[in-house]
Amino acid sequence: MAELTFRIEIPRPAASELSVRLQVPTPRSVPGHAPLEELTLFMPTWTPGSYLIREFSKHVVGPRAFDGSTRAPLPCVKVAKNRWMITLGRDTSSVDVEYTVYCHELSVRTADVTPDHAYWNNACVLLWPVGQRSASADITVCIPTQWSLTTSLPVIAETATTGSSLRNITIHASDMDRAFDCPCLAGSPKCIEWSSLGVPHRIVLDDLSGLTPPSTLAGDLDRIVSTTAKIFGGTLPYGNYTFLCLLTQDGHGGLEHLDSTTLLHSRTQLATRKGYLEFLSLAAHELFHAWNVKRLRPSEFVQLDYEAETFTPFLWLIEGWTAYYDDLICLRAGVFSAADYLTALGKNIQALLNNPGRLRTSLADSSFDAWIRLYRPDENTRNSSQNYYGNGAVAALCLDLLVRAQSDGTKSLDDIIRSLYETMPSDRGYALDDVLAVVERIGGQKARDYLVEAISGPFDPPLREVLAGHGIGLTLKDTDQLHLGLQFEPNGTVVASVGRNSAAWMAGVMPGDEILAVGGLRVDASRWSEVFTAVAKAQQAIELLISRRGVIKTIRALPAKSPGVAALEILNSADDKPRQLRDLWLQPGAVSKH
Ligand SMILES: [Zn+2]
Repeated sequence: MAELTFRIEIPRPAASELSVRLQVPTPRSVPGHAPLEELTLFMPTWTPGSYLIREFSKHVVGPRAFDGSTRAPLPCVKVAKNRWMITLGRDTSSVDVEYTVYCHELSVRTADVTPDHAYWNNACVLLWPVGQRSASADITVCIPTQWSLTTSLPVIAETATTGSSLRNITIHASDMDRAFDCPCLAGSPKCIEWSSLGVPHRIVLDDLSGLTPPSTLAGDLDRIVSTTAKIFGGTLPYGNYTFLCLLTQDGHGGLEHLDSTTLLHSRTQLATRKGYLEFLSLAAHELFHAWNVKRLRPSEFVQLDYEAETFTPFLWLIEGWTAYYDDLICLRAGVFSAADYLTALGKNIQALLNNPGRLRTSLADSSFDAWIRLYRPDENTRNSSQNYYGNGAVAALCLDLLVRAQSDGTKSLDDIIRSLYETMPSDRGYALDDVLAVVERIGGQKARDYLVEAISGPFDPPLREVLAGHGIGLTLKDTDQLHLGLQFEPNGTVVASVGRNSAAWMAGVMPGDEILAVGGLRVDASRWSEVFTAVAKAQQAIELLISRRGVIKTIRALPAKSPGVAALEILNSADDKPRQLRDLWLQPGAVSKH
């Protein structure tokens, strides 16, 4: 019998509410201890893997507390934004708590209840007693009989009442971390099962709305799983794995868990080759996290504080290395062609070129600030900090290619991350010195020095040179085109962001300015490109007529050459060594020996 028991019901799906009842034992006479006089419950303010305070408690109504035996109401007072304190009666030996949670946000991180499904993360639904981190919990979910429940927590009981349209399914969480790690989906999804390396896997597709998933889906995911396992030594770290997939009109995202992931993707995009490959890359990304972050983790993630930010300087490793491997795994698994892979890599390089903040705030500092920058972006974010996903992936690429070149292709980033995984105890977690020691042992002093420089200072890697050493050419196309370095808000010519050091920045254009005319010609969203291209000439100032906070002004700007569009190609003329290194790096199925 678990210490905590939860019962979750869906009384009126169209109201988007879950009704929750929690029972907590409150022993009054523990030898050697004063009787417990109060019980405090909390709801997490964020969910691991998504580094933003989301204030899940704003959706809680209630709670009300009762003596578990007499049903007498107990005082229950809110004492913090996400905490409630219950005063216990003299003889209270257990407390019943009842509350509802409003669930109307369909994302991988939140909760959504409709007449067609109920999806939730326990971190935004369960109130947990403060100080009872190791308490186990039985969670009974009451759902319509025709629905199934998808969760990676073990099912310990299932009851259907004859004549009732509802049934109860009870799942068990061994402790608080396990309970909060697990997403749940109740509904009528399509489930496809297979075995990878002898371990059960499944993909559960919610809301296909009559569409048929690609027939290659399970086979491709199977190859992605075994390719990923090979990097980490050939075995899987879990007893079963669920790809829980929420299909929607638009959107794209994922959240990692110990032995499952929630993916969100456009259902119609899944039917296109491009959208399907993006989906597989997302699935590979979240699966890679089953090792990188869910088990191999920094020391600050060993005991997470669910009520406040858990800062880490390591998101360049947690997310950046994962973002490097997601596409590489798809290539090795044979689901990406070399051209698909180079296109994906080119996008990361392009994003890096459009991120002036990489020269001002390091990858480590940008990681630390994820909570207030990357997850709360504004017009200045790209000028002031780095995207540790894409730029972290490019830093991983450079480290990988350096180690490969230094060792004549006998060592790679695979050896580094595998060694980190095998040597770092997950109950202690790693510190920077641990990571650097492994990098130095496998890649040498040069690799260590490179990594220190890449994560702690301005990030401006010599990409052309690094890639040429592996027989890949990097060219920047369309550099003869002129530009100002502006980004517009959707459907207009209001400036959303001005790239630092760009032509517009030098001229004094500011975010929020609305550009009305260029060189005396009226512009709007549909004609901006055409008019600007006709009017702009290199090294000749043009006049911009703008509206700034309601005042019309004229600004003179000197259009500059575009930084270009990054394109990667296989250099057929490469010498033997770069060619051999390229083959080792990019051939399907390639994982360095260990
Ligand atoms: Zn990730």
